[in-house]
Amino acid sequence: MSEFRRDPILREWVIIAPERARRPSDFPQPDLPSNGALCPFCEGNESFTPPEIAAIRRPGSAPDGPGWQVRVVPNRFPALRVERELVARPYGLFDVTSGVGAHEVIIETPEHVRSLATLPEQHVRAVVRMYYDRIQDLSQDSRLKHVVVFKNVGAAAGASLYHSHSQLIGLPIVPPRVEAELRGAEAYHKQRGRCVYCDIVYEELDRDERVVLDLPQIVAVCPYASRFPFEVWLLPKQHICRFQQSSDVLLEELATALKLVLLKLDLVLEQPAFNFVLHTSPYGGGDLPYYHWHLEIMPRLVGVAGFEFGSGVHINPAAPETAAAFLRDADVEGAFNGNGHSHTGWGYSQRAGLSPRTRTSA
Ligand SMILES: [Zn+2]
Ligand SMILES: [Zn+2]
Ligand SMILES: [Zn+2]
Repeated sequence: MSEFRRDPILREWVIIAPERARRPSDFPQPDLPSNGALCPFCEGNESFTPPEIAAIRRPGSAPDGPGWQVRVVPNRFPALRVERELVARPYGLFDVTSGVGAHEVIIETPEHVRSLATLPEQHVRAVVRMYYDRIQDLSQDSRLKHVVVFKNVGAAAGASLYHSHSQLIGLPIVPPRVEAELRGAEAYHKQRGRCVYCDIVYEELDRDERVVLDLPQIVAVCPYASRFPFEVWLLPKQHICRFQQSSDVLLEELATALKLVLLKLDLVLEQPAFNFVLHTSPYGGGDLPYYHWHLEIMPRLVGVAGFEFGSGVHINPAAPETAAAFLRDADVEGAFNGNGHSHTGWGYSQRAGLSPRTRTSA
């Protein structure tokens, strides 16, 4: 039986239509070729990317050469550029602002693998740590109001390269979706005096119908009004508005949760295309009692078509309760074997001449 569900933050409607859904295996996925010969992200091919901004490197290894674990470079085809001046002006009745911003690629591993989930847990921690460091570093640029960290995996999710990587875009504006979340969360807080995300954590743990993973500090749930089949959100259990306020323990647990959930999705859906996006408070301003950082994972199993584009209402053929049950039951313990990689020997490095801090201090 299908039903309309309303997202408690955005107040957007979703149609959950499970009679259109059968089993997870009903979503076959085409994918990108894995040929790594000319991959610009593979170790040894560093000269094919712009000079690196930051890296976790073996001590003594030179920037833009081999010897790295995680490497951050500017996007070769950036949507926005950090070197430009921020100018906002009217254009008739329209508003126009120059395309200032940072567009960086976080190359998650020197090896030509598709999935972040297959990396050792320590390595996933290094990737999460790099998100933290980049968000922190870009906060020095007063032109930027917000940073979106996101990941596209698979052709259906908009990825153009197979090699595991994520991206970030630093923006001179707060993007509409985040702004809508802020507005919705603030309205909820005004009405009830509580953070809607904290309430979601409480409610989901209490009901235990849509929980995928329950760790000491992080919970993974299929949201009540999931827009996409097998959509999963990772939420800190304690209220925390900014990603940059996360403790080391919380970041480590986020890496564990991310790896586990991605492994479960890979297992249940046979390596689906997916996007994930980190939502956190915009730069500046004080601590918000109503906003709460979270990571949204959206498998791209069904196309977004005319009705979704035209109405803003998503039809989701997999009830989140069913999706959560499949993911909860997916046994990925075996995938954690051989996880004893030591973290020692890697050091964080940032090239002075290329850090956005120096580039933008003029
Ligand atoms: Zn590669
Ligand atoms: Zn909260
Ligand atoms: Zn969000």
